[in-house]
Amino acid sequence: MSEQNFDVVVLGGGSGGYAAALRASELGFSVALIEKDKVGGTCLHRGCIPTKALLHAAEVADVSRESSKYGVNTEFQGIDIAGVTTYRRDIVEHKYKGLQSLVKARGITTITGAGRLTSPSTIQVGDDTITGKNIVLATGSYSRSLPGLEVGGRVITSEHALELDYIPNKVIILGGGVIGVEFASVWKSFGVDVTIVEALPHLVPNEEESVSKSFERAFRKRGIAFNLGTRFQGVEQNDQGVVVTLEDGKTFDGDLLLVAVGRGPVTANLGYEEVGITMDRGFVITNDRLVTSVPGVYAIGDIVPGLQLAHRSFQQGIFVAEEIAGLSPIVIEDANIPKVTYSDPEVASVGLTSAKATEKYGADKIAAYDYNLAGNGKSSILGTAGSIKVVRVVDGPVVGIHMIGARVGELIGEAQLTVNWEAYPEDVASLIHAHPTQNEALGEAMLALAGKPLHA
Ligand code: FAD
Repeated sequence: MSEQNFDVVVLGGGSGGYAAALRASELGFSVALIEKDKVGGTCLHRGCIPTKALLHAAEVADVSRESSKYGVNTEFQGIDIAGVTTYRRDIVEHKYKGLQSLVKARGITTITGAGRLTSPSTIQVGDDTITGKNIVLATGSYSRSLPGLEVGGRVITSEHALELDYIPNKVIILGGGVIGVEFASVWKSFGVDVTIVEALPHLVPNEEESVSKSFERAFRKRGIAFNLGTRFQGVEQNDQGVVVTLEDGKTFDGDLLLVAVGRGPVTANLGYEEVGITMDRGFVITNDRLVTSVPGVYAIGDIVPGLQLAHRSFQQGIFVAEEIAGLSPIVIEDANIPKVTYSDPEVASVGLTSAKATEKYGADKIAAYDYNLAGNGKSSILGTAGSIKVVRVVDGPVVGIHMIGARVGELIGEAQLTVNWEAYPEDVASLIHAHPTQNEALGEAMLALAGKPLHA
């Protein structure tokens, strides 16, 4: 039994928690980081990084299948899932070691164990009481399911899907959002027969509608089946596989059902309510400075309502450390956070969709240009189809950018600067974009919107 005192105590060592700890220590605070599992959290161990490794292996498989298209003779001999697993684990392990060294080098005290908030300034970990002048809650999220749908056996979540040591023949995926389409893309490239079931009318339903439709065309072309606009009703499983039934009576059979219907906050039984923190359906409510209803207690990352993304968590972590230091950091607006859906093809966007921009400014105040990547040299070299749609206010700034195509996620940086800095298309069009790059396509879209199209 011991008592330790710090300036800042962070509960949860995922993207948000470790970012808060790193920045707080940089600012000269004494910091404790409490983590019950592994520093790095969902993103490093079960999310962003391992899935992107799988996607890269999937891309290599596709390229090797199609290599003759480029005049290169190789023979695709299948996927060695043990080899893919080694590659994936090595990357995660390497990043994990790097992160552990960084946390140590910054002088952060890491405490391993499950913590519970016991007062506005104390967290109990086993017999130890950890006291902080400031507390940062960053306990992250878990894979949710639907009411009545129990995960287990052949009904799996993304965590189980990542760790599969075999390649299934046929998979049903419940949910056509980011995580569902990511696994659909990987599995299809690994030779799996994939069907997605999505209750909303589109795949990647939160994106610009034209992008969702292009995405559906691309998936259809790849042979990925999907059923949109009908709700899941039930699943039966046995030794052979699963049979999924939808509300409209359709049934689908497969080896596995992957449940990818979103993520819930990890906040139950952690003492949050007891200490007086205002919650809403399990999420922690904060003001725009990320302070909870209890002064001195902050919350960041997936437990705070809004986009559940690692880069939002990182930024919120940095924000609270600077807020504690009295540096008055700029409020983080979810609306300006870039989003990337990693799959083949990729989707990347920032800012308002044209529908939302119309709602906000009125139809006559909005203009948009949808540049087809067919006009872009680098895209032709890579064999990429897709488009970049830029939405602007008439005689005003760019308010949204929506992209689809291979590797468009890598173009989100300039798109984000444009929207966040409220640049006009004319400003971006006047920048020189290197040729031939896919990035040039963004410049071309801006040129077109500024009324001086080049290759459009
Ligand atoms: P987490 O990363 O979940 O970390 C919370 C930490 O708190 C965990 O380590 C947990 O062990 C710890 N913890 C919980 N309770 C306690 C307790 N009582 N005591 C001590 N420790 C505790 N986002 C992207 O931006 N890009 C992507 O490409 C991307 N891909 C994803 C792919 C998948 C399959 C998944 C599941 C998620 C993906 N995400 C992606 C989302 C991203 O992983 C999360 O948004 C991010 O990890 C949230 O960070 P966080 O710090 O809020 O929580």
